[in-house]
Amino acid sequence: MSYGNLSLSAKIFLAMVSGLIIGLFLQYGLESPDWVNTWLTGGIFFVIGKIFISLLKMLVVPLVFVSLVTGTSALADPSTLGRIGLKTIGLYLITTGIAVSLALFAAVIFQPGIGAEPAAAALKEITTNKSFVQVLVDIVPTNPVSAMANGDMLPIIVFAVMLGIAITHSGKAGVRIAGFFSDLNDVIMKLVTFVMKMAPIGVFSLILILGATLDFAEFAKVAKYIVLVLAVLLIHGLIVYPTMLSLLSGLNPITFLKKMRPAMMFAFSTASSNATIPVTMETVEKRIGVNNRVSSFTIPMGATINMDGTAIMQGIATGFIAQFYGIDLSLSQYLMIVVMIIMASIGTAGVPSVGLVILAGVLANVGLPIEGIALILGVDRLLDMTRTAVNVTGDATVTTIVAKSENELDLEIFHDPKAGMKFEKGEATH
Ligand code: ASP
Repeated sequence: MSYGNLSLSAKIFLAMVSGLIIGLFLQYGLESPDWVNTWLTGGIFFVIGKIFISLLKMLVVPLVFVSLVTGTSALADPSTLGRIGLKTIGLYLITTGIAVSLALFAAVIFQPGIGAEPAAAALKEITTNKSFVQVLVDIVPTNPVSAMANGDMLPIIVFAVMLGIAITHSGKAGVRIAGFFSDLNDVIMKLVTFVMKMAPIGVFSLILILGATLDFAEFAKVAKYIVLVLAVLLIHGLIVYPTMLSLLSGLNPITFLKKMRPAMMFAFSTASSNATIPVTMETVEKRIGVNNRVSSFTIPMGATINMDGTAIMQGIATGFIAQFYGIDLSLSQYLMIVVMIIMASIGTAGVPSVGLVILAGVLANVGLPIEGIALILGVDRLLDMTRTAVNVTGDATVTTIVAKSENELDLEIFHDPKAGMKFEKGEATH
């Protein structure tokens, strides 16, 4: 089978493996001479990787806005949006609660902070996050254009939903505008498929840089922490979500996970659930069969408020830091950590490393030393990538469960292994 006939996920996978091998060779085989940094990791691959992420990010705001206006204006009864919203937020909170509890439990049992070595990373990047009250106040934009310019997801969602509801109440004018948004949505989705075709070269560049720059010596110092975070992420992604999906919707989780592979790989290589929104949306709609009326709302919202992978890292990191400094946490402190982690993630955009920023706020609030973050900063990139894949899978799982419960899931699409693969002749998207 030639490269051209491979499915998109196979191409992305090949790109990841070859990027990693070449990156590792540059670091360990050639010992990273200056020209590698100047021409490759800081040159051509840096440019391609950055442009690839910019292309994805470029689509996020127009796609979320247009798709949500289309979705809301297509609801026969806008009050269903309230029900969908409640179910979605409820499930997002529950999954994050499970994630952080699992993580704290693992941290208490396996004690990753005992025997860890201090690392030398500097802490300059950490600033604390917005307060929860401020997040609530900022949900309604004073200026929707500035919310869009800044990519603030929750205010964009609020404005788009209100506009969509107004469209449904505007008679003939509303019908015309709804038609325009629906056409524009199709065009933007087409743009998403164009950008997805660039994934193999973009992913190759990003992973090559990772292989060439990751400092594996740092890994040994906090090996227990890394293994524990990865293990709990895997348990959450491969056991908790599939169980929820089959219990709450009766759907086959293997089919679901298979279809989610490209979105997971995008999330892994970009470490940003925000930048992955276009791909997650495309996947849940075209491959899994969720109606745009549900996904246009739940996916951007999930990329902002639902970060289970991040909560797992934060739970384990909190236990790790407490153990490292020899601080005993009480049960009430543990409970406070659970609540704080859930609340802190709301309103924080899914961008690389944001989990550490949130963690700083949590640590400060429970009286643990923020400097502890320096211990894990150096190894965070790989964990960031992995937890982002879990974050995105969580958004898609809840979206699918809600869609099924609302009769907004096309089972024919879900069961068709080839659905959404019609890109162009001979080309597949799975
Ligand atoms: N990078 C993560 C995301 O975009 C957030 C984080 O954990 O830092 O979902």
